[in-house]
Amino acid sequence: MDCIFCKIVSGEIPSVKLYEDDRVLAFMDINPLNDGHLLIIPKAHAATIHEITEADFLAVMSATRKLAAAVKKALNPEGINLLQLNGKAANQVVPHLHVHIVPRWSGDGVTVSQWELVPGDMEKIKGIADQIRKDLK
Ligand code: 5GP
Ligand code: ZN
Repeated sequence: MDCIFCKIVSGEIPSVKLYEDDRVLAFMDINPLNDGHLLIIPKAHAATIHEITEADFLAVMSATRKLAAAVKKALNPEGINLLQLNGKAANQVVPHLHVHIVPRWSGDGVTVSQWELVPGDMEKIKGIADQIRKDLK
């Protein structure tokens, strides 16, 4: 399959690897938003949260926790953003699921988690919650 991250898993494309187990690979992002920006992916191809198996997703999240602890020890960031984008509308560029770990320091200028808080219409919020609850299994 013509997938950059599958090629990183197979070794066809080189990467700076950090961690690997049966299900998961973690490696450094080559366009880092900050020092220590890294990615955690399932080894089995899954484009988004909608395709990945529960076992693979849990393995990715477990590795994410491990990597976050190592980043904290190694780089001592003041904070960490976890990012996981699904679909073009959400700005996902590589269609193989990945979690970003982005270490943060106050005043670092990284804008990824900045948004203005604008109160929503509570009736609309409740209506949308009803819609989502209906489809929870
Ligand atoms: P997203 O799909 O969540 O927008 O982000 C994709 C991420 O993958 C980007 O941060 C980008 O820098 C990273 N990326 C894209 N191609 C490569 C690559 O070949 N190697 C590595 N290590 N990272 C990549
Ligand atoms: Zn892939």
